[in-house]
Amino acid sequence: RLSRRRGEEAGAPPPETPGRDLATLPGLREIEMVREAGAALGLENPYFRPHEGVAGGRSVIEGRDCLNFASYNYLGLNGDPRIAAAAKAAIDRHGVSASASRLASGERPVHGALEAALAAHYGADACLCFVSGHATNVTVIGQILGPRDLILHDQLIHNSVAEGARLSGARRIAFPHNDWQAAGRELAAQRARHGRALLVVEGHYSMDGDAPDLARFAALARQHDALLMVDEAHALGVLGATGRGSFEHCGVPPDAVDIWMGTLSKTLSACGGYIAARQPLVDLLRHAAPGFVYSVGLAPPLAAAALESLRVLQAEPWRVARLQANAALFLRLAREAGFDTGGSAGLGIVPVILGSSVAAARLAAALFAAGINVQPILFPVVPEGSARLRFFLSAEHTEPELRATVAALAAARDGAAPARVA
Ligand code: PMP
Repeated sequence: RLSRRRGEEAGAPPPETPGRDLATLPGLREIEMVREAGAALGLENPYFRPHEGVAGGRSVIEGRDCLNFASYNYLGLNGDPRIAAAAKAAIDRHGVSASASRLASGERPVHGALEAALAAHYGADACLCFVSGHATNVTVIGQILGPRDLILHDQLIHNSVAEGARLSGARRIAFPHNDWQAAGRELAAQRARHGRALLVVEGHYSMDGDAPDLARFAALARQHDALLMVDEAHALGVLGATGRGSFEHCGVPPDAVDIWMGTLSKTLSACGGYIAARQPLVDLLRHAAPGFVYSVGLAPPLAAAALESLRVLQAEPWRVARLQANAALFLRLAREAGFDTGGSAGLGIVPVILGSSVAAARLAAALFAAGINVQPILFPVVPEGSARLRFFLSAEHTEPELRATVAALAAARDGAAPARVA
């Protein structure tokens, strides 16, 4: 009787309950529809292609040496023998894995060395590294905000920030892309009704290749007593004359930002995330953030690779200059060829916006046949009508390669078979 009463309280399951049927899991049908649409158009799936070597400015894909615009290896550090040697030395000393949480079972000297170097990079009190960039945003935002708080973020913010906001239970407001005035209006209207307020922007947006007006956002945060958090995933090593990131690009002192977040996976050619901030926040995260406390410490070879990458980034600013020159040239050539490159600032990421998802998928397939690897970004990742090919530039690309790529793009758009570059 007791169990029946419990069942009644919870409500009987609806007759169409899917039970253990995995084929009805939410989202699966949509994936199937995209697959069917690709097959109907005769297009191969452009995702999950295996790369056989180091993916940099070029990459061997399915046995062919292709030009590659689908890697975040902005400065060509992944594959650099000095960085590989640092990782191998860490394996020889510590083994591959940290095996357990640093809180539970201790850390390796390379963790502290990497965190000290990143803290110095931002002139911050302290830094803490996590095993993934995505997990960093989720656990940090989930830790520092609660249901009485407010989070305001750019509408194009990365999924990890949105997931962290959802976990926190805070009131979440997305403001139009890069629109600091709209963010100010929301803060003026909402700030007093909430406890803490967190304003989150990215230093360099990966879908559009543009950057926020950091000075304006910093002023807003101060004016409304909000914390400012900047995700530097695509800004470190890419923005600023020496690649220090969005603060160098915008001429803003790094202490204008309360929470610097970044990843080790892109310019730093490793894997993991970090927070650089004032001491009390880092102390809290080190002892309480579930994604740090209940997760394994960063693998020693990854920490060593990131530390060596940071050293090379600082010692060899010519890499940053070459990346920026490549991106500026690619942007100019694409515009001259009549392509819509949106708001790209031409710093490291250039989208070529084509409109329909079908047009973008077709063009990507034609380029791949010619030996150029670039990912199409289709609905629903971007709204239908703004599907695009997203070009990630690298310091490793050469001017003839960039010219050949834009020529191939224009030929494919105009219905001609592009000349093979590989
Ligand atoms: N933030 C931004 C802006 C990103 O683009 C990404 C990854 N693409 C992440 C966070 C997550 O970083 P990771 O891939 O290192 O987990």
